[in-house]
Amino acid sequence: MKLFNTLSQAKEIFTPLEDNLVRMYVCGVTPYDTTHLGHAFTYVTFDTLKRYLEFKGYTVRYVQNVTDIDDDILRKSREVGMAWDELGRKETERYLRDMDMLNVKRPDVYARATEEIPGVIEVIKGLIERGLAYVNEGCVFYSVQKDPDFGELARAIGLNNYESMLNVANERGNYPDDQRKKDPLDFVLWQAQAPGEPAWESPWGPGRPGWHIECSSMILHHLGPQIDIHGGGADLAFPHHTCEIAQSEHYTGKHPFVRFWMHVGMVYQDGEKMSKSLGNLTLISDLLKEYSADTIRLTLLSHHYRQPWECYQADLRASEKIDTLFQRLRALVGKQPEGENLALREQFVAAMDDDFNTPRAIETLHTAATDALAASDHATGAEVLRLATVLGLCV
Ligand SMILES: [Zn+2]
Repeated sequence: MKLFNTLSQAKEIFTPLEDNLVRMYVCGVTPYDTTHLGHAFTYVTFDTLKRYLEFKGYTVRYVQNVTDIDDDILRKSREVGMAWDELGRKETERYLRDMDMLNVKRPDVYARATEEIPGVIEVIKGLIERGLAYVNEGCVFYSVQKDPDFGELARAIGLNNYESMLNVANERGNYPDDQRKKDPLDFVLWQAQAPGEPAWESPWGPGRPGWHIECSSMILHHLGPQIDIHGGGADLAFPHHTCEIAQSEHYTGKHPFVRFWMHVGMVYQDGEKMSKSLGNLTLISDLLKEYSADTIRLTLLSHHYRQPWECYQADLRASEKIDTLFQRLRALVGKQPEGENLALREQFVAAMDDDFNTPRAIETLHTAATDALAASDHATGAEVLRLATVLGLCV
């Protein structure tokens, strides 16, 4: 199987570091608002990747984080007048419910930032000892100037110099300008408590973890110093994942921290990226009132995971037709379908092995389903349904 690695900008043959075990981590949600199609594209993609790797005989250990304390949660909690922890719990539950509805299997570990503080503190201490981080007024910052390796992943996506990195960091709005930093590109590892904010004890005073360090620390805790696949939305490659590499590799001394970086394209609506701040969201809970979970999954997987795309009703209607076709096939072959079609399976595997080409795999199943129905071909019908379950459909 070949997968495109963002770091090398090439399709590489996938093999895990250790025998049959795939260690996979995907950056999770910040639970302060509803789940939209952009989130679903990321989490359905990696859920399907896990299913496919298991189909190929691998064991997959899948960890995802929940950033249950950060600026957005604190802001929203003030806006709606709800305690920050209650808001985080409520929105996490809502996210999990939406994912359950889309037939996304739960990862092996959902690591919550607030439950991982001791591990975060250990990694920060190590980075200070190695001369890569400094303390200022109760905050700890990572010093980019002290790290000549910083920015490998950023350069891979075309941010070739300090200025271009700084511009994107500023655009993203998750890289606050802070007078306590020595360099504008330095990023916070430990955020000192501001008046009225929740805080945890640390050697540098009360505060809370920065966002980037949370993922580095959780990966080390739940998966070890080196992992096979790290996923997330394309907008996380810089600064978030670039900062994760810096922290993790300097703390553990192991390179590469991640063997395959996989980034999922953005979902657009009316020409703009779908995001909470822009207010142009297609909510999963709303979509589920009109379409089946399989139709939504088919729509998502009909787009190659690396491509940005725009969501149209026509896409959903086209997927609905395929969903209906699969249901008719189910009626034809019954609940316990028998027989197989090895040529079809080979075609499906060839598509999926080529950088996880789900659109081509779906097209293959679509054609085969049409033919099987026309010819009352039970064996092919059974094979289509079996392969559809690998995509998390028809289950
Ligand atoms: Zn992350």
